[in-house]
Amino acid sequence: MTTSIQDFLKKYNETRDLNIMTTVDEPWLNEHAAKQANVQGALSGKLIAIKDNINVKGLPNTCGSNFLKNYIAPYDATVIERIKKAGGTIVGKANLDEFAMGSSTEYSAFGATKNPINPDHVPGGSSGGSAAAVAAGLVDYALGSDTGGSIRQPAGFCGVVGLKPTYGRVSRYGLTAFASSLDQIGPITRTVKQSAELLQIIAGKDEKDATSTDIDVDDYIGKIDNDTVKTIGVPFHLLKDGLHPDVKTRVDESIEKLKKSGKTIKEITLPHLSYSIAVYYILATAEASSNLARFDGVRYGARTSKDAESINDFYSVNREFGFGAEVKRRIMLGTYVLSSGYYDAYYAKAQKVRRLIYEDFQKAYKDVDTIILPTCPTPAFKLGEHVNNPMAMYLSDIFTVSVNIAGIPGLSVPIGDAADGLPVGLQILGNLYEETRILQLGKTIESLQ
Ligand code: GLN
Repeated sequence: MTTSIQDFLKKYNETRDLNIMTTVDEPWLNEHAAKQANVQGALSGKLIAIKDNINVKGLPNTCGSNFLKNYIAPYDATVIERIKKAGGTIVGKANLDEFAMGSSTEYSAFGATKNPINPDHVPGGSSGGSAAAVAAGLVDYALGSDTGGSIRQPAGFCGVVGLKPTYGRVSRYGLTAFASSLDQIGPITRTVKQSAELLQIIAGKDEKDATSTDIDVDDYIGKIDNDTVKTIGVPFHLLKDGLHPDVKTRVDESIEKLKKSGKTIKEITLPHLSYSIAVYYILATAEASSNLARFDGVRYGARTSKDAESINDFYSVNREFGFGAEVKRRIMLGTYVLSSGYYDAYYAKAQKVRRLIYEDFQKAYKDVDTIILPTCPTPAFKLGEHVNNPMAMYLSDIFTVSVNIAGIPGLSVPIGDAADGLPVGLQILGNLYEETRILQLGKTIESLQ
């Protein structure tokens, strides 16, 4: 871990080939660090990497897109304001899949990030840069965003801790929207305690984000050592097929260790979870097609010098030039499911199944305090393995997307490695606003390793 800007810059230069950061601006960083040196707070002296879709005033906010390559954030996201007030030092912006769409960081317009544990493999995505920054020891704290797993899955692939808070727990003001009913900002850190430390600062009502709730922020740090979780639900029916054998072994071992430590393991069923990938890729693309309409070369995004015959043609040439293939695929899919002839068959149906998935969880939480699931069915895949096969890429999100669909919080913690040394992550899912509980159990699991 680096503790000074000098250490960070040295480590950053040594790890340049991993392509972790999109922006490290030394003059900006020195000036910012000098200012922060005078701020006393819970994050004083801590270095933090920020996913490059969260606005930090004066730094680019590229969203991993050619479209926004030259866009400089004119203001701070609320989470950044809070980090600055708490004395934290922002080291720069971390790589991501374009507009946070992807599971490997290979869809970044600035090239893929490599997994620091084994550079032939992906770091996961879309917050792959943030997770890799922690895993490579550039920083101990990073922020990511999670729409369908983008904090938890890269944390799992890189052997670090990733927390997606409850929908509404953390302000999204200043986060570039992907799918507004699913997006959350959250911490990626080396330890569970650090996750609590960063959440403590960023959580809470923000007048600038109408979707943030004013439910009291719990004392995550103060309560973390007193694990109140007694009963843990496991949906064994989801763990039968398609799990990599090493993931299965590590998960089984974790269940045994938890039993030995005195926890009660209860079988639960989540019958509608098998529809979650379909529901997610309908709702997320529908919302994305609407959110990304603002990138037209007029309101946002670069213009091409290509001639255009009409205003619509002008938008088209800019969007054709600005967006990468995956983003275009999603805009087309999202526009299709929202079109009048198909709206009921896809979008409206997906909304109904969303409710059923939410109810599955609510029913389960009547009997158990938390639920555990693998973070991903496999350890980190190889660079290039899924890049031309969107279906295979989408299927890797099977265990993460339902959490965003239901709005509940989820924490990924490392539970050892697969035979080839790649990390395996376990997710702990809590009911709405029960971040304290999942952090407590996370800390217990961490201590059982
Ligand atoms: N992998 C998912 C997707 O591609 C999740 C992305 C995210 O959480 N931002 O949409």
